[in-house]
Amino acid sequence: MNKPFIATLIVLLITPAWAKQPVATGYGGAVATISEPASQAAMRILNAGGNAVDAAVAAAATLGVTDPFSCGIGGGGFMLIYSAKDKKIISIDSRETAPAYFSPQIYKKEGKEMEWDDVVPTGISVGVPGTVRGWHEALARYGTMDMARVLQPAIQVADTGFKISPNFYRINQINEAKFARFSSTSALYLKDGKALPIGTSFRNPDLAATYRAISKGGVKAFYEGQLAKQIVDTVNAPPVAAGVAVLTGKMTLADLKDYEARLRQPIHSTYRGLDLYGMAMPSSGGIAIAEALNILEGFDLKTMPRDQVEHLYMEAAKLAFADRNAYVADGEYTDVPKTGLLSKAYAAERAKLIDLKQSHGKANAGDPFLFQDDQSRPLRPKVSLSTEPAHTTHLTVSDKEGNIVAYTFTIEDWGGSGIVVPGKGFLLNNEMTDFEFSGPHPNIPEAGKRPRSSMSPTLAFKNGKPLFSIGSPGGSTIITTVLQTIVNHIDLGMPLADALAAPRLSQRNGDKTQVETLLKFVGSPQAKALEQYGHQWNETDEIGAANGLQFNSDGSTTAVSEPLRHGGGSAIVQKPQ
Ligand code: GLU
Repeated sequence: MNKPFIATLIVLLITPAWAKQPVATGYGGAVATISEPASQAAMRILNAGGNAVDAAVAAAATLGVTDPFSCGIGGGGFMLIYSAKDKKIISIDSRETAPAYFSPQIYKKEGKEMEWDDVVPTGISVGVPGTVRGWHEALARYGTMDMARVLQPAIQVADTGFKISPNFYRINQINEAKFARFSSTSALYLKDGKALPIGTSFRNPDLAATYRAISKGGVKAFYEGQLAKQIVDTVNAPPVAAGVAVLTGKMTLADLKDYEARLRQPIHSTYRGLDLYGMAMPSSGGIAIAEALNILEGFDLKTMPRDQVEHLYMEAAKLAFADRNAYVADGEYTDVPKTGLLSKAYAAERAKLIDLKQSHGKANAGDPFLFQDDQSRPLRPKVSLSTEPAHTTHLTVSDKEGNIVAYTFTIEDWGGSGIVVPGKGFLLNNEMTDFEFSGPHPNIPEAGKRPRSSMSPTLAFKNGKPLFSIGSPGGSTIITTVLQTIVNHIDLGMPLADALAAPRLSQRNGDKTQVETLLKFVGSPQAKALEQYGHQWNETDEIGAANGLQFNSDGSTTAVSEPLRHGGGSAIVQKPQ
């Protein structure tokens, strides 16, 4: 035997089956998340007989401990569930909701829009959190275990703690100034005003206690009573450090008590014979991805070289984003021309605007109303590209019965509003800054409304059988990440793991396309080939640490996480191949 072979064998023998790896293939249940403890939490629940919904909530609660700047019970999200028994896709919307005091004027001062950065670290960016209600609905309707059982692994991680990773440190450090504004947040995440160093053993007993309270009291323990009062008090009088002045909210106990997670019909579309299910409004993800794919369906991508496929993908994304920016918002508050946006005939019209060889700058919104039965249209909105940074987390789980969960949840910005509820161990969201700050626009702030999101948990089926699940963090880049991964997988024929790991090209109707320094894209032959079409780049560190599951034709499942982004993720299968 040669030496490398022996070395590999030794590594395999001493590596536990659950050691962190980004790709795993096997049978039974499968999970992919960005956090190893979260993937292990899901696996523990699956091994204890729980289903995919139970395991997804266990993973999510653990991510709230290990990735507290991306997600948690202070925020909201969207969960897609495939129920194998019912052959049905369910979506649960636990998006944060604007408190009753909100009005379209909230983010205006002396007639002018306030600065996004000035609104984020304040009480007026905080929406009513939806996550706990979402977990409750998912477990009560589609799970087999109760909240107390599925929160156990997360409580254990919060109690025992973990070593701070370079990625945890990086995000904490970016947020030092924001966190230093609030005494409760500095006390948890900073030391002498600086991010806790890499390698520090970090525990969050306050969050463990909060999870215990929810285990004991159920959903009411969050939305009514003592904890609800503390959330409201924190939003309305944030615990500021000495000398800091902050805008205060006017959230009420009724805002919390009245919060509802909504069961929504998912967006259904088809692409080259596949059935795709995505998230409906208030997320723009399902519609934008479906529109872009409908546009691409008109091109014979299989016969084209990779650079041309990627050129067309970016042009289709641009057109879909022009429409998404103009028309999509909370469908309970505005008439979104959903039928038109999803129609293949409309996509064919949009596709005519694409030049096979050349990119021609920004796109205008189209007229989807012509493709609706009801062609009455609201006032034409002002179209802006508001600040939409890139955070959040996505996880996906399947079980041995064939149930699947794809779940994206967030507190919006890294570290949300920056406000930890004192003594409770979790950060409050700043999701309300996902509204447009002024109108006319369908996505202006209004009481009880949910801001437009880009979160895009997606499930794909072929001939009625699950083919893959995919989802990503990353603000509005979520849409392009999910879309590009689908194109890579379906049109360029890459296995899902390669499709997800490939360099991202995020064209959101901007002058330039966002690409990653992490993957050294600029200067690569791939970049140079695309420059011939007129594409230009705008670099960022990395885009969207995605997670997915590929259901293989031999009955096995490949769980796929990130090899590099966000420090690398963790994929585990119940019975490795
Ligand atoms: N607020 C974003 C959305 O709902 C998610 C946060 C992010 O990924 O930056 O689309």
